[in-house]
Amino acid sequence: MWSKFTKRQKLDFLESIEYRDPLFGVMIFIFCVGLASLFAYYWNYLIGKRRQDSLSKFIESFDYIGFDEEAQEFLALSPNPIPSLLFMAKMYQKSANYEKAIRLYVALLESIQNPVDKVPILESLGLLYEKAGFPSRAKEIYLEILHYYPRSPLVLKAFIRVCEKLSLFKESLDALDCLEELQGNTQVYRHYLKAKILIAKGQKSEETTQKLLAILQEQPLLARLILGFLKDFYPTLFWEYLKIIPKEILLELQDMLWNLNREIIPQSLLEELKNTPQNAQNQILKDIFEAKGILPLSFSQKMTFELETLCLLRTHKSFQGDLGFHYQCTSCKATTPLAFEHCPHCDGLLTLKTLVFLKEKQDETRYSFL
Ligand SMILES: [Zn+2]
Repeated sequence: MWSKFTKRQKLDFLESIEYRDPLFGVMIFIFCVGLASLFAYYWNYLIGKRRQDSLSKFIESFDYIGFDEEAQEFLALSPNPIPSLLFMAKMYQKSANYEKAIRLYVALLESIQNPVDKVPILESLGLLYEKAGFPSRAKEIYLEILHYYPRSPLVLKAFIRVCEKLSLFKESLDALDCLEELQGNTQVYRHYLKAKILIAKGQKSEETTQKLLAILQEQPLLARLILGFLKDFYPTLFWEYLKIIPKEILLELQDMLWNLNREIIPQSLLEELKNTPQNAQNQILKDIFEAKGILPLSFSQKMTFELETLCLLRTHKSFQGDLGFHYQCTSCKATTPLAFEHCPHCDGLLTLKTLVFLKEKQDETRYSFL
């Protein structure tokens, strides 16, 4: 019937409907909006289901640990078991009973249906695996969370940290780009990871040293890492740079300089230092070598109280003095006996400051087994 009309007639008919009945246009519009909403709802449903299926499949991979039977029973009987089990898992975690805590977290993951609610549990599980010494497993978990929720700064930071532990510095750097987009202020970390990548490559080339020195110029906090590398592989450059890095940074490296073997100190440098030093850096080096007994004592004023005291002790020879070092975090104020790149307490990067203290020199033969 419709096909019998000419094209002109059909158009006239449609125009006449629209003209006569404006409600028809409104109905068509409402119908289109309804259809679009229905489609969006279905699309969200499909994405949510895919997310849930994928998380469930991922959680199945923890089956080898086995779920905690008591927890399963508690989950079945209690009306609101999740807060109590979460509390118990955290307690086990604090008391370093990692296996029990992992079992509880896995049981919790099984019982929670909403994928969004599973994310904090997965975060805790990742952290737990990291603490228990399984960084690869923790990385898998963080990656799974980021796959669905990439805009989570906390998980991104944890992922960067765990990749760093696995020496996957390139992956850490890629994830850092995302973190920069989210909250910025990642310059120090970026320089640190770039230096780590260059050092980990282990290529002894002029290009590597040039890049490392360019990073050092930009970020003096990396002096310990970069100069430590130069000391082992490019001693000439190491001694050259010691003379030009800022005085404050050189004082931070007193432990490294104090523990240097006499054999690796160039004779030419010692000869140069015997004359009056031209700058503060040379003065610090001279004071350290005098206090250590490598250079003869001079009457000049020393750069620090500890070095002055050691030189006085050397003059009188009634006691033999020594320097000890520990490191304090500028962020959380915790102290540690070793110079870590990350604070072991708050995980701050390059936040440790060298603290120097005087002590009586011990008989080293007693520690020969070390
Ligand atoms: Zn700290």
